[in-house]
Amino acid sequence: MLIDVVTIFPETVECSLRTGILERGQEDGIIQVRAHDLRDFTDDRHKVTDEPPYGGGPGMLMKPEPFFRAVHHCRRGQHNSRVLLMTPQGRQLNHKICEELAREEHLIILCPRYEGVDERVRQWVVTNEVSIGDYVLSGGEFPAMVVVDAVARLIPGLVGEPESVRGDSFAQAGLEGPQYTRPREFQGLEVPAVLLSGNHQMIARHNCEQSRLRTVQRRPDLLR
Ligand code: SAM
Repeated sequence: MLIDVVTIFPETVECSLRTGILERGQEDGIIQVRAHDLRDFTDDRHKVTDEPPYGGGPGMLMKPEPFFRAVHHCRRGQHNSRVLLMTPQGRQLNHKICEELAREEHLIILCPRYEGVDERVRQWVVTNEVSIGDYVLSGGEFPAMVVVDAVARLIPGLVGEPESVRGDSFAQAGLEGPQYTRPREFQGLEVPAVLLSGNHQMIARHNCEQSRLRTVQRRPDLLR
């Protein structure tokens, strides 16, 4: 999968690509993530990407033309690209959306700053508006990296053990149950005996019950 991220702060994106599964996925050729500087798609000497909004109001708005040119550039040679606009007004990201996006071959992610972007970008180039929650950050870069990471995990081969992705919260319409590692006893708290029994059937049943219990307690909406 190819993911192009368009931003005025490409270094923010690049530094999160240098660690963990995203770095490994790129080295193994499973995913390629490219960060583009929006300023490279301006046509004036000062590389202006924002202007005051028409009609007045606080702050600056990002201009449409650099985003249009950037999308055109990223699309070259690609078919069926999805163009994602990061915005608190978009559809809230969840596991199902990540699964849909993980099936795509090419994503272009637009990361506005300031007051957001000129409405015509939404109208003409964007295929999906994506929010990461009901709160406002100062820019689309962190939201974009949330999308990149969550989607990348679902691409076969990226996470070493596919079982671990399949057992994750939300992958099975519920939450994962409690898990334990060494030591067997910590601060007077013991690991449940069944997990030490070596009986895989009993362990699987226990994990399943615990997962259901945790989902009922914390997210009963997922079971409906
Ligand atoms: N004035 C905009 C509004 O009320 O919708 C918010 C602008 S915000 C300060 C700047 C940029 O950060 C947004 O255009 C968007 O790209 C990104 N952003 C902020 N919060 C976000 C969220 N919850 N999900 C996705 N992107 C977000």
